[in-house]
Amino acid sequence: MQFDLIIVGGGLAGLSLACALRDTPLRVALIEQRPPRRPEGWDARVYAISPANAAFLQQIGAWKHLDSQRIQPISAMEVYGDAGARLDFSAYDTGVSELGFILESSLMACELWENVKRQGNLTLISPGSPQRVEIREDAAIVGLADGNTLSGRLLVAADGRDSWLRRSCGLTAFDTPYNEKGVVANFVCEKPHRGRAYQWFSDEGVLAWLPLPDKRISIVWSAPDELADQLTALPPEELCDRVAAAGGYKLGKLSPLTPAAAFPLRLMRVPKVVAPRVALIGDAAHGIHPLSGHGINLGYQDARALAETLAACQPWHDIGHLNILERYQRARKEEVLLLQTSTHALRRLFKTDLPGLKPLRNLGMNLTNGFPLLKNKLARYALGTL
Ligand SMILES: Cc1cc2nc3c(=O)[nH]c(=O)nc-3n(C[C@H](O)[C@H](O)[C@H](O)COP(=O)(O)OP(=O)(O)OC[C@H]3O[C@@H](n4cnc5c(N)ncnc54)[C@H](O)[C@@H]3O)c2cc1C
Repeated sequence: MQFDLIIVGGGLAGLSLACALRDTPLRVALIEQRPPRRPEGWDARVYAISPANAAFLQQIGAWKHLDSQRIQPISAMEVYGDAGARLDFSAYDTGVSELGFILESSLMACELWENVKRQGNLTLISPGSPQRVEIREDAAIVGLADGNTLSGRLLVAADGRDSWLRRSCGLTAFDTPYNEKGVVANFVCEKPHRGRAYQWFSDEGVLAWLPLPDKRISIVWSAPDELADQLTALPPEELCDRVAAAGGYKLGKLSPLTPAAAFPLRLMRVPKVVAPRVALIGDAAHGIHPLSGHGINLGYQDARALAETLAACQPWHDIGHLNILERYQRARKEEVLLLQTSTHALRRLFKTDLPGLKPLRNLGMNLTNGFPLLKNKLARYALGTL
């Protein structure tokens, strides 16, 4: 089977790239081993999506059919240091209608999936499992487990942080483990959150409370491995008490909505995200600590940038040529590096136990809080509007 582009991996990054290519003449194949599905009730994988990425999802037709009852706009955010410092952001002060949106991963995945299923220029191969890859001068060949062979001018690795395609193509990734796990779970809270998100830096890691519609919240507790294992082993009621206490009972008592799950965290740097006939997007191209909530936000912007690069090509251009792919790499390098470096530095700053550093980092937070212009710039950068 002959295509222009073959995407391996139909997570949020791969699916959004496929959708973004729907109005191009490119013939696209998407290989995904496991179609997405909605869990019963609420999904514990919940993401903060920046307004810039909500606009991207809107543009590719994957926002307007989402159930608005399951999307929570963020009106404000409170960040607390480990010695009493506090940093506040609000949509009102920043001059935007919301700081972002909280929604379930599987809600977005299923909507994108339905869109690609209807897409005229796309062949969906799922369940599908690539077994071998061969990069030739004029084409990339993918052999599937069922014996079929696909050929394309460009192969896109969107197969997540342990990307098989990245490894098969010899693109190197450098991992720095945080020795932490991201513990996620949803709760019902006693008091209304009014669209407010909270984050606490402490000796026990970084705890974020993300508002969900009605009196629900989702948490991401980036905790040292040992603590994360203890948290996930707690009976639901005890976990509620533990999480409510860690957040100073800001929203009163909590009751359980979903069981807790934990994901190992690591920084992953990939110096080259393109090679002849290959491009990496999403977690296949970078790994970042979830404290800044940027993982899939970066992935969506990769998809947008690659789709724009390909859409700008003329019919006689070879879309798998390194010169073209390097345009995509250049377009993404700065943002990814900046966010990875700043998020990593922030995590290190709050993990380091040097005498005198604790008051200093809290002073830094309080000072930032006192400078509306600086705060506004920080907020606008995070929103993707700077
Ligand atoms: C605790 C935690 C909290 C987070 N919170 C946020 C947040 O608030 N905001 C945010 O932006 N990001 C957040 N992230 C990051 C976010 O989860 C990831 O960035 C995002 O899921 C990456 O999407 P992806 O499509 O690149 O990769 P994945 O989601 O890993 O998708 C890869 C896809 O490829 C498929 N696949 C893999 N191998 C193959 C193969 N060989 N053949 C076929 N298919 C294959 C898989 O089945 C999967 O569907 C968080 C991460 C963690 C761990």
